[in-house]
Amino acid sequence: MSGLYFASSRGGAPLVSLSHAITQGLAPDGGLYVPMQLPHIGAPPSDISDLRQVARAALAGFFDGDVLQDSLPAIADAALDICAPTTAVPACPDPLFVLELYHGPTAAFKDFGARFLAESQQRLRPASPAQPLNILVATSGDTGGAVAAAFNARPWARVVILYPKGLVSERQERQLTCWGDNVLSLRVAGTFDDCQRMVKEAFRDPTLSRKHRFSSANSINIGRLLPQMVYYVASSLQIAARTSLKPSYIIPAGNLGNACAALWARAMGFPLGRIILAHNSNRTVPDFFSTGRWQPRPSVATLASAMDVGNPSNMERLQWQFPTWEAMREHLSAESVDDATIRARIKGDFMQYGREWCPHTATAAEVYRRLLPAQRRMQPWVLVATAHPAKFNEIVEPLIGKPIEVPESLAALLRSAQRRLDLPPTLEALAAALE
Ligand SMILES: *Cc1c(COP(=O)(O)O)cnc(C)c1O
Repeated sequence: MSGLYFASSRGGAPLVSLSHAITQGLAPDGGLYVPMQLPHIGAPPSDISDLRQVARAALAGFFDGDVLQDSLPAIADAALDICAPTTAVPACPDPLFVLELYHGPTAAFKDFGARFLAESQQRLRPASPAQPLNILVATSGDTGGAVAAAFNARPWARVVILYPKGLVSERQERQLTCWGDNVLSLRVAGTFDDCQRMVKEAFRDPTLSRKHRFSSANSINIGRLLPQMVYYVASSLQIAARTSLKPSYIIPAGNLGNACAALWARAMGFPLGRIILAHNSNRTVPDFFSTGRWQPRPSVATLASAMDVGNPSNMERLQWQFPTWEAMREHLSAESVDDATIRARIKGDFMQYGREWCPHTATAAEVYRRLLPAQRRMQPWVLVATAHPAKFNEIVEPLIGKPIEVPESLAALLRSAQRRLDLPPTLEALAAALE
């Protein structure tokens, strides 16, 4: 075998190529695909401000030997035509930056992964399949919209979105239901965990999976993780060039996909310093860091709803990278931020810095404030801004006391008509809806 191969995080599945892992989503033993080893950094990117150039350099090793190898530049050009600037916060006396991941079509970072996955799958699909690929997506808010946007108008795929009723913001719901065509939006009377369980059950059900060609676009798919590494690579190289120091990142976390991408980028040797996870009141990960016990639990609803995850699936990838609790604690830490503190941070940082945070980004901003003053002074810190505050206007506007300007691409989506089906949280209901 030449090139890079991918294994299941549970170790019970055959090694596969990158394109096989992208097509399959989940490994047959229920694990998540991870590279046999992280590739070495090749030639440096020719332009560190252009994600398309950075992707060519940073991801080449993952594509090495795969049938998609020669397509990487074209996939990067089509999918990563989005800017992700790392902007300074001049009002802060310490070196503080914001990695703005909300300039894509649905104004959250999930656009990067979803578009890259769509472009990859487009090149991998069989020439004349008997039926379209059914992409099942459980979403706590932003994934569904990003995947729908990425796969909309690609007739070889159908996107089936499951989202929890009453647990996403109004504007998020509009983004989940505005598509029609090849997008089926299902509003489930349950939580995000119910949605995720239904998707997993559908994949495992032999009758259903024989009938429909299932594919996953959740952050378990490695085709979504890889492009998320690209903005960490670009951002860290930019800050390191400006300051001669390694920037540290605070990442709002839910299913841990974005965190995993940052950890892989750092493990490859790109100049990321510390990585801290900011969770909301779903404390599974922060509690694991303090107790060493992994105790998944039902999710609780919070203001940072896209992070309402009680059993983060990418934990398996983190455990593959750091097999012991001690190793994980050495390389990573995690904090929890409750809703009252999220509100106070949105208000406080708008007054002090003039910056508008979405509730997810506010968890990172709060974790930054908890650092010791010396830690803030000594090295550059980057808050990862995962969504545009305009998506959460009902929460943010009353706190900052002014309307938030809506980016035009988001405004266009919000104007479209809504289409959705209501569903109880059962596999039978999902099976019926798929017909
Ligand atoms: C999905 C999401 C998160 C959590 O990201 P994970 O990769 O699941 O950890 C954080 N913020 C926003 C706005 C999101 O949409």
